[in-house]
Amino acid sequence: MPSAARGWIVGEILAQVQANRERVTGCAKHQFPKRGNTYVLGQKLTCVNCGGVMSLPDAASYLRGYVAHGGDASDIIPDWTETKP
Ligand SMILES: [Zn+2]
Repeated sequence: MPSAARGWIVGEILAQVQANRERVTGCAKHQFPKRGNTYVLGQKLTCVNCGGVMSLPDAASYLRGYVAHGGDASDIIPDWTETKP
C-alpha cells in the first residue's frame, strides 16, 4: 500500500476516534441497549443518546459510577447484572 494511502487511512481512523471521543464526553447520560445473554470478547456498546461507542468494560465502569452515586443500573443498561462481565 502506498504511504499516501496508508497516511489517509490513519488520518481517517484518528478522525473517527476523535469524533467518538467528542460524542462520549459531551453526552449528559449514556444509555445502552440490552446486552443479551452472550458476551463477545471485545464487545462494544453504542449509546442511544449520543451515538458514542464504548467498550463493554468502559460502559460497565460508567454504570458502576452511576450506581455509586445513587443511580439505578437499569437506567444505563436495562438487563445489567453483576454476574456478567
Ligand atoms: Zn451517550
